[in-house]
Amino acid sequence: MRVGFGFDSHEFEEGKPLMLGGVRIESPYGLKGHSDGDVLLHAITDAILGALGAPDIGELFSDEDDRWKGAPSELFLEEAIKRMRERGYRLINLDCVLIADRPKIAPHKSKIRKRLSELLGIEESRISLKGKRREGFCESEGIACMCVVLLGEER
Ligand code: MG
Repeated sequence: MRVGFGFDSHEFEEGKPLMLGGVRIESPYGLKGHSDGDVLLHAITDAILGALGAPDIGELFSDEDDRWKGAPSELFLEEAIKRMRERGYRLINLDCVLIADRPKIAPHKSKIRKRLSELLGIEESRISLKGKRREGFCESEGIACMCVVLLGEER
């Protein structure tokens, strides 16, 4: 078995669509970034890549490469899953924390977990998603995400 940890954070950008876990969230602001800024998918992608000991998301998908400008982050996750399967591993479970004062995560949780379950090809019961407020810690100008994955060898 192999464990992987992912972290990412993005600043808010007014007028950009907000994407979290491959789900479009109704919001007057999105997340700044070269791609669609999906902080949750970036953290999951990096956790899977980390578990494999593969290059990280920034090395595979440089923000100086025009191919990834405005790209859906699902592409990055698909590449990580492809590499995981090629190496003979499967995803056992995933635990994520989104740190955001706004928007509230709770109303979107079930939709996001459902989408993640489709993208990752695992049951929703293997996906945990928690929304946490900063409670005064750091600036509240964006959203951060931390996530842990566990991979097991394909039987
Ligand atoms: Mg990112």
